[in-house]
Amino acid sequence: MSDPTRPAGPKIIAIANQKGGVGKTTTTINLGAALCEMGHRVLVVDLDPQGNASTGLGVDDRPYTTYDLLLDDVDLSQVILPTGTENLSLIPATVDLSSADIELFSNEKRSFLLHDSLRQKGIDAFRFDVILIDCPPSLNLLTVNAMVAAHSVLVPLQSEFFALEGLSQLMLTIREVRQSANPDLRIEGVVMTMYDARNNLSQQVEADARANLGDLVFRTVIPRNVRVSEAPSYALPVLAYDGSSKGAAAYRALAQELLAKNEKRAA
Ligand code: ADP
Ligand code: MG
Repeated sequence: MSDPTRPAGPKIIAIANQKGGVGKTTTTINLGAALCEMGHRVLVVDLDPQGNASTGLGVDDRPYTTYDLLLDDVDLSQVILPTGTENLSLIPATVDLSSADIELFSNEKRSFLLHDSLRQKGIDAFRFDVILIDCPPSLNLLTVNAMVAAHSVLVPLQSEFFALEGLSQLMLTIREVRQSANPDLRIEGVVMTMYDARNNLSQQVEADARANLGDLVFRTVIPRNVRVSEAPSYALPVLAYDGSSKGAAAYRALAQELLAKNEKRAA
């Protein structure tokens, strides 16, 4: 992603799935931390009123939030906060974002607010390589803002029954965003999360996903790993909490696969 032929500015990835509890926030935090470990400068944008990415990264003091960035024109330099992880910055969220979805409706530029915010001149000074947007569990206007702002969408898919069910609606939303606002929006890939290799169901869901989605599914699979679920209560990415865990290894592999895919595409 430090490819000099790539257009200036960070690569923006929306992490989306309208189902809750599928691993969006976990993937945002840990993919972000893994990219940082590899030397990239990463910004996480918490776009979920639940603020789990903010809590999980240990940012409790949130003077300004994504709400202020979108609706109050607060400057980027005021909303971007450092986290405990080197090179990992955050725009935090709080519950005030829950009213944004409604307030956005009356705004003429309602779908473009995040897009425009993340392209303010001032962002260059931070020299971010990657921006990861942690979406809410809904296909609402916040998620649409993320898709309009992004170059691509990364979809975490929980290795459980019904996992594929909501995907067609998600794909439809992506298609609508392409038609209306962001023709170049790509699908970065689908990543299987909470995978249990001993469970037939996990294997079946994976086989289904690969049969239906082919190369869109990352080869890397994120295993169900207790260290991954413990890490947020210590306000750390799993890479910092237990860097030798299977979860940490999986997120490092995902980061590598994602970078390799992008380099191949750029070549
Ligand atoms: P979402 O953001 O899609 O709602 P989360 O990332 O918050 O989902 O994950 C839901 C729950 O599952 C959280 O409690 C999280 O700690 C747990 N979890 C996510 N990924 C894993 C994993 N690979 N292994 C174990 N627990 C996980
Ligand atoms: Mg979440």
